[in-house]
Amino acid sequence: MNTKARNNVDPAELAKFDALASRWWDTQGEFRPLHQINPLRLDWIRQRAQLAGARGVDIGCGGGILAEAMASAGADVTGIDMAEGPLAVARLHQLESGVDVDYRQATAEELAIDEAGTFDIVTCLEMLEHVPDPEQVVRSCTELVRPGGDVFFSTINRNPKSFLFAIVGAEYVLRLLPRGTHEYAKFIRPSELEAWARGAGLKLETSIGLHYNPLLKEYSLGPNLDVNFMMHFTRPAS
Ligand code: SAH
Repeated sequence: MNTKARNNVDPAELAKFDALASRWWDTQGEFRPLHQINPLRLDWIRQRAQLAGARGVDIGCGGGILAEAMASAGADVTGIDMAEGPLAVARLHQLESGVDVDYRQATAEELAIDEAGTFDIVTCLEMLEHVPDPEQVVRSCTELVRPGGDVFFSTINRNPKSFLFAIVGAEYVLRLLPRGTHEYAKFIRPSELEAWARGAGLKLETSIGLHYNPLLKEYSLGPNLDVNFMMHFTRPAS
C-alpha cells in the first residue's frame, strides 16, 4: 500500500457510509435518491459514451448501484471505494444479481499508480463532495482515463439555493437523506469543477442538472445546474 496515495480520505465521511452500508440496496431507504437518479444518469452516460465493450472504473462506487448498471450495459467495470462496509455489500449484491464487477478497496490516486491510461470511461458520481481534496481526485481520474476516453463527474453546486434544497430540504424537511450527509462548504461550483478538470488536461463536453420535484417525488434532467449537476469531459487524444 502506498500511504501517500491514501491521504486524500476523510475517515469521518467513510464512517457515515459504513454505518449505512447494509441499507444500500433498499430502494426505499437512505439511498433511495441514488436509486431514483440511477436510470437517469446511466441513460445520460450511455448517450454520451459507448459502454458496451468499454473498460470502466467507478470511483467511490459505494454499494455498486452505478457500477452494476454499467456492467449490465456491457462494460467491464472496476469499482473502487475506501469504505469497507459498502464494498462488502457490493460484493454480496453481485452474487445475488449475477452482475460481474471487480470491486477493490483503493483511492483513485492509488489506482492511478498502476493503471493510468487504461480505462475508456471513468465515472466519479456523488463522491467529490466527500473528500478533503477533490481537485486531486479530478487529477487522478484524468490520469486513469485513456487519451480519447470519457470522464463523468457529478456533485452539488454551492450557492444559497443549493443550501436550501440539498441540505435544508433534503435532510431536514423532506428527509430524503440522513442529517449530516452533506456539508455545505464541500459543495463544488460547476466553474470550479471545470477549472480543475481543465487544469488536469480534460475538455468539457457538456453539463446537465438533476432536479427533484417534491410534489411528484421524482427526479428529472434539465439545463439548470443550481443544485445537483453532472459534467462530461473527454481527455484529448493527442
Ligand atoms: N458513487 C456512488 C456512491 C456515492 S456515495 C453513487 O453515486 O451511487 C460516496 C461514496 O464515496 C461512498 O461510498 C464513500 O465511501 C466513497 N468515498 C469517500 N471518500 C472516498 C475516497 N477518498 N476514495 C474512494 N471512495 C471514497
